[in-house]
Amino acid sequence: MRLDGKVALITGAARGQGAAAARRFVAEGARVMITDVLDDQGKELAAELGAEYCHLDVSSEDEWADAVAFTVATFGDITVLVNNAGILHFSALADTTLADYQRVISINQVGTFLGMRAVVSSMKQAGGGSIVNVSSVEGLGGMPYLVAYTASKFAIRGMTKVAAMELGQHGIRVNSVHPGAIDTPMVSTALGRPIDVSPIGKKLALRRIGQPEDVANVVLFLAGDDSAYCTGGEFVVDGGATATH
Ligand code: NAD
Repeated sequence: MRLDGKVALITGAARGQGAAAARRFVAEGARVMITDVLDDQGKELAAELGAEYCHLDVSSEDEWADAVAFTVATFGDITVLVNNAGILHFSALADTTLADYQRVISINQVGTFLGMRAVVSSMKQAGGGSIVNVSSVEGLGGMPYLVAYTASKFAIRGMTKVAAMELGQHGIRVNSVHPGAIDTPMVSTALGRPIDVSPIGKKLALRRIGQPEDVANVVLFLAGDDSAYCTGGEFVVDGGATATH
């Protein structure tokens, strides 16, 4: 029970990597608030796991205030936040509209900022906590056709370091996770039609695409006390994708 006594809020947890983290967290003893904009899927998963569900569009300041208040009222002060919600938008830089760009930034980047800010007071009250921000390998290097996504994921990596420097004195650790290609609906539906994801990992050192559980295991490590001396770090989970030069 590596998360015994922890109270965790996970964003974008109705499916994909967030759902895998919710499963691991519950199995390891955490009380988990699953949040998402996919209410039916989120409620179903919460009922299955014995977790709770709360609607939370991470780009909304008001919804963050409500979700944090509901979590504290339900479970007590928050000790783990996983800023996992995110969206992808593929388009050439020259074809990316301002609206496209702003939509990605408002969810991925602003959502992460709002989330960290929203839990600080509760985590201080609890005597500390762990914030895990889900960036990407696109937060470490550029990727064509992903200008807004890449910008948002670099920003998450930067904000993580600022938050780690400011909040360490309060026992709050902040780290970023950088997944490579992971088999979730984000990838399998990225082109607006079903994609066979199996060839994606064939050229990687580990010869396979990542699974949501591969990322959830690293998120679990960062959420729990096994990572007590880790803050401001970047944790790559990419099957070796960025090991090359
Ligand atoms: P996913 O699309 O399966 O899950 C993303 C979740 O975020 C969904 O449940 C979705 O409803 C939710 N979401 C979208 N907009 C939201 C909003 N405004 N407010 C709250 N929730 C919202 O994809 P995933 O792969 O599980 O993605 C999880 C995270 O991992 C994302 O931040 C993504 O950028 C990152 N990531 C994914 C990959 C990959 O290859 N799948 C690689 C690197 C990083």
